[in-house]
Amino acid sequence: MSKDAQEVLRAELLQARRQLADLDRQLQHKPDFEIGEGSPAIITWEMNLARRSVLLRRIDDFERALERDSAGAYGTCEYCGAQINPERLRILPHTRQCIKCANIPKGSRPSARTRQRTAE
Ligand SMILES: [Zn+2]
Repeated sequence: MSKDAQEVLRAELLQARRQLADLDRQLQHKPDFEIGEGSPAIITWEMNLARRSVLLRRIDDFERALERDSAGAYGTCEYCGAQINPERLRILPHTRQCIKCANIPKGSRPSARTRQRTAE
């Protein structure tokens, strides 16, 4: 990974962690509501909860990309081992799959060779 790409990933990781901390603060205050009652506050709260899980996934993606970089595996597909197209990496710097494997439905994909966090 180029130094520039590392900088971009680190900056995005930092930003995502800040957003997560911010969301966590907002999520501490769950508005009261009765069953069947749709208040805007609870809708906002639930949207923040959904945003939180998206953020967690992004943080995981960024962390894994940086880990793969230090392991020398960055830029190779974790499924087939092929080089990932540089243009694809420029647009999705955290991707771990080549375009071919990304298009295979999850269920019929072979398991990743470099998957380290299977326990999670
Ligand atoms: Zn592949």
